Amino acid sequence: MADTSIRLHKPNLPPPGEAFSLSDAQAHYLANVMRLAEGDTIRIFNGDAGEWRAAITKISRKAAVLKTVAQTRPPAPEPDAWLCFALLKRQKTDMVVEKATELGVSVIQPIITARTNADHVNLERLRAIATEAAEQCERLHVPEIREPMQVMKLMADWPDRPLYVADERRTANLLGPATGPSAVMIGPEGGFTDQELEAIARTPLITRVSLGRRILRAETAAIAGLALLLAASP
Ligand code: SAH
Repeated sequence: MADTSIRLHKPNLPPPGEAFSLSDAQAHYLANVMRLAEGDTIRIFNGDAGEWRAAITKISRKAAVLKTVAQTRPPAPEPDAWLCFALLKRQKTDMVVEKATELGVSVIQPIITARTNADHVNLERLRAIATEAAEQCERLHVPEIREPMQVMKLMADWPDRPLYVADERRTANLLGPATGPSAVMIGPEGGFTDQELEAIARTPLITRVSLGRRILRAETAAIAGLALLLAASP
């Protein structure tokens, strides 16, 4: 019987002491990859329940049943920072989702622009990447990943939330730490069109910001932007 450092996300945890099962993939991971046995413990978490140590009561190749033993962290709020970024090729999108989760993003909103080549994402796959990153980096919340949206529509429906638009033209001030709900927006490799820039400029609550002196690749800009916005937040 071992207390392992394995940490898995489980939405809708039942009340303490009640048995619950994990997904097939999680059961496979515990049984076949990590070779855990009955009595071993792992950590289970979600945003509502916090984090709990849980003991395995039954395990086979395809199913795992556990029971919570003790709370290891109470639920706690996390920063409310969105990332809106022009959709990238698959590998780069995967990387942005993983790194944004590690940096503490709360919502990921892929955007489609006139100069974006991709318009489709596999949301299930991106959600799995975000879940694994949250498990690894000790977060309690898995960020929400939204369906891609046209930038013009996103701007037309923009909510009551400060939006920092990363602008590589070197005229804006450096992006600083967020003090409340916020969002950062990163454009496509080819830049926004004039029409898009006008729509962005007309949106209330937007500020153009710099991410430093050099022109960054879009994926670097997404990561640097969230680091500047979130590195100092609790
Ligand atoms: N407009 C350029 C480069 C686009 S870089 C071109 O046409 O080639 C892709 C996106 O990264 C930009 O839209 C911007 O949002 C962001 N970005 C890159 N470097 C930046 C910097 N130094 N400051 C602010 N934003 C930056």
